[in-house]
Amino acid sequence: MIATGSDARIPAIDGLDGDPRRRPGRRGGRSVLRRFGAHVTIVEHGERLLAREDPAVGELIAQRPCDEGIELRLGAKAVAVSRREGKRVVRLEGGGEVSGRELRVATGRAPRVHGIGVETVGIQADAQGLMIDERCRAADRVWAIEDVTGVLPFTHVGMYKGRITAADIAGRSVRADYTAIPRVVSSDPEVAAVGLTGSQAREQGIAVATARVALADAIARPWTYEQNPRGELGLIADRDREVLVGAWAVAPMAGEWIHYAALAIKTKTPISVLRDTVAQFPTFTEAYLKGVESLEL
Ligand SMILES: Cc1cc2nc3c(=O)[nH]c(=O)nc-3n(C[C@H](O)[C@H](O)[C@H](O)COP(=O)(O)OP(=O)(O)OC[C@H]3O[C@@H](n4cnc5c(N)ncnc54)[C@H](O)[C@@H]3O)c2cc1C
Repeated sequence: MIATGSDARIPAIDGLDGDPRRRPGRRGGRSVLRRFGAHVTIVEHGERLLAREDPAVGELIAQRPCDEGIELRLGAKAVAVSRREGKRVVRLEGGGEVSGRELRVATGRAPRVHGIGVETVGIQADAQGLMIDERCRAADRVWAIEDVTGVLPFTHVGMYKGRITAADIAGRSVRADYTAIPRVVSSDPEVAAVGLTGSQAREQGIAVATARVALADAIARPWTYEQNPRGELGLIADRDREVLVGAWAVAPMAGEWIHYAALAIKTKTPISVLRDTVAQFPTFTEAYLKGVESLEL
């Protein structure tokens, strides 16, 4: 079983090679630094943050850095890095630069597939990682799990693939199902999503209905957890089958209560059942009722 993980993906930026650029990753790094008083600038090539999620998620998560005084440079591509007067200077495409004492590079991870001899057992490795089937098999009697496969590189998915592999080795008939895997960003506020985004659902030919609710309106006692309640829940439903196919939340503890949607998506729970399900007061989970009621099916 191959589980060699991944390495930080270093983009081809002039001058980056000579930089002592690797630092241990720290969650919520930008906000922590800002709260200690540092001036923080985020340079992002894409037009929005978290481009793989629904556009609303990127908008909501961008709001907070701006409120905190973090400068957000969207649609800005870093093309060169240099040092000047004790600072690191990042030059941007089309002119302009950003400078600071510390430079953090967070441009994703690449499966660790080279130098381990996978080709000697007939496996072709590319930049996407080792290709596996539904039983996590990469070749005859070779299994591969987690980041090295490039499929949903999260710890919990690694554990799931480990269970699938163990069951397959033990001769049990199993197939991995990735339809309802939670994806959480441990930011402040937290971002959580599961299932399809609206555009992924449309691309699959699903007749989509969506709902977007503000938690301050959707739950009975929003100030239980925060003085100024914030956050939103989004739902993506299949009108024909009347089931949820996706959900997202940008809110406190979203990584906890997204599992309600994960189970509904995984088990294809009818929306009529969700409408008739009672959530504990006062919790964020209450927002699902308002969400499913707002869906135009
Ligand atoms: C900063 C950061 C924060 C993260 N936070 C989260 C999170 O909150 N939640 C989440 O779900 N995921 C998180 N992840 C992702 C998560 O860490 C990975 O998805 C998970 O660790 C992948 O497990 P893995 O077994 O594939 O690789 P790893 O855990 O990296 O293990 C790979 C192991 O293989 C060893 N190895 C490599 N090459 C060889 C070789 N040739 N021979 C022998 N051993 C070898 C390595 O030394 C390493 O010990 C985070 C990742 C980072 C970088």
